[in-house]
Amino acid sequence: MTFSYFTEKLLRWYPVHRRDLPWRGTKDPYIIWLSEIILQQTRVAQGLPYFRTFVEKFPTVSQLAAAPEEEILRTWQGLGYYSRARNLHACAREIVDKWEGSFPDNYTGLLKLKGVGPYTAAAIASFSYREAVAVVDGNVYRLLSRYFGIYSDIGSTAGKKEFETLANQIIPEKQPDQYNQAIMEFGALQCVPKNPDCGSCPLRVNCFARKNDMVAALPVKQKKVKVRSRYFIYYHIQAGGYTVVNRRGPNDIWQGLVDFPLDECQSMEEIQSPQPENLSLFNELSSFGPVFGLSGEKPLKHLLTHQKIFASFVKVTLRPGQKEALESWAEGKNYSLADEERLEEVGKPKLILRYLNQIK
Ligand code: SF4
Repeated sequence: MTFSYFTEKLLRWYPVHRRDLPWRGTKDPYIIWLSEIILQQTRVAQGLPYFRTFVEKFPTVSQLAAAPEEEILRTWQGLGYYSRARNLHACAREIVDKWEGSFPDNYTGLLKLKGVGPYTAAAIASFSYREAVAVVDGNVYRLLSRYFGIYSDIGSTAGKKEFETLANQIIPEKQPDQYNQAIMEFGALQCVPKNPDCGSCPLRVNCFARKNDMVAALPVKQKKVKVRSRYFIYYHIQAGGYTVVNRRGPNDIWQGLVDFPLDECQSMEEIQSPQPENLSLFNELSSFGPVFGLSGEKPLKHLLTHQKIFASFVKVTLRPGQKEALESWAEGKNYSLADEERLEEVGKPKLILRYLNQIK
């Protein structure tokens, strides 16, 4: 694959469209580093006044290192993510103490600094020392994915690696500094996340996403499955050898399986020390008499794709003579009674099986 069309277009676009920002056009690693740290998780418009104040107050890395942490934090105030400010200070001190006040002059050395990750190290190495190492961030993933038609998930480790490898194949040896600036700016201004103006784009002729109507679909970022925690109190209710069971209905993760009646709670605390006033079944069952016993075991944990279930078990043992009353109560709630044999043969969720094994 030849990349010259892509790189040439970007390098021609950049001088015409680039924003005039104070950290552009310098080779000073201190200024570049400062701007990169300030701009992490921060919009340019918000970061700009902070950058100016930092440069004015601490014109060199040694002055930054010598300042008390309190002053750094005060200057940072309002920018959020205060660990960045602390890392900034720690890194400045490290440079003074271990590197005689000068930044390492290559990517590998820069990566060893506190708070400096691959993106910042690549920015400093290429802008200050013209080392051909690609900056790879969200803007770059998006542009590469759309232009080259790459469907790998940018949220996965393998996907990130693939984009990083490609970005490092593309970066030209001759002008890595200009190219890195150009691709970052192009992603920020032209190939924007939503509704980019493809009609005015210099890459449109060869852009995979534009030609295949895939602009809105690329890059692919699979949503992380959100796991919800749920807290159950299960009631193991027995009378005269019979147990109350509940058959799970349609559209249920346990459809067709049989478990016990339950109260759903909001927290771990509630299932460890049940408060009767908050539990509807607990209240109803109290009418049968004081026959409750918590299993005494730690709540059982059960993992499903989208759910983490914690369950406590309350054993309710009624007198054999109460079986009929229990049966009519159960029927009214759409539960049924199962004798030992039946309970043994019906399909049960693992959680229930684990509990039954525990009390054997
Ligand atoms: S044509 Fe559209 S999708 Fe393709 S690189 Fe240009 S702006 Fe991005």
